[in-house]
Amino acid sequence: MTLKAPYDPDNIFARILRGEIPAVKVWEDDHVLAFMDVFPQSEGHVLLISRTSTARTLLEIEPDALARLTEATRRTARAVEKALRPDGLQIMQFNGEAGGQTVFHLHFHIIPRWTDRSMKGHGHAPMADTETLRALADRIAAALDS
Ligand code: 5GP
Repeated sequence: MTLKAPYDPDNIFARILRGEIPAVKVWEDDHVLAFMDVFPQSEGHVLLISRTSTARTLLEIEPDALARLTEATRRTARAVEKALRPDGLQIMQFNGEAGGQTVFHLHFHIIPRWTDRSMKGHGHAPMADTETLRALADRIAAALDS
């Protein structure tokens, strides 16, 4: 996929938003959805997507939708820090296949990092089981600022 291509309404995140395939949700509102990455690069890997925008990349998103998505990322990152106490956090965002993007509905990654733990490669992590992800999502949700 190049940077310039039409939005595919059947991409995996669009299907998650429509409830057609399951996801382990952390929190959601009318504008955004935070959910667990099913192939986590580290424990507590969360994805943030807009509910309202069909931007494929950062280059396309409307400023208002981006503001809501980045604020949701900040809010969720604070909760990840509070719940899991990582030593650091990586916020990642990929654009276009050549830029490492694999799902073409704009998203931000929150990847907790610990100094004594290595991170799995992007696109090379094994699938996590739902119960483990649900437990992590519940801990992160419980740590959200109101
Ligand atoms: P990208 O490579 O586009 O930046 O990131 C896409 C992310 O979506 C990857 O980290 C990948 O593990 C994750 N992912 C792919 N398919 C699914 C899925 O069906 N459910 C969830 N929760 N995450 C997915």
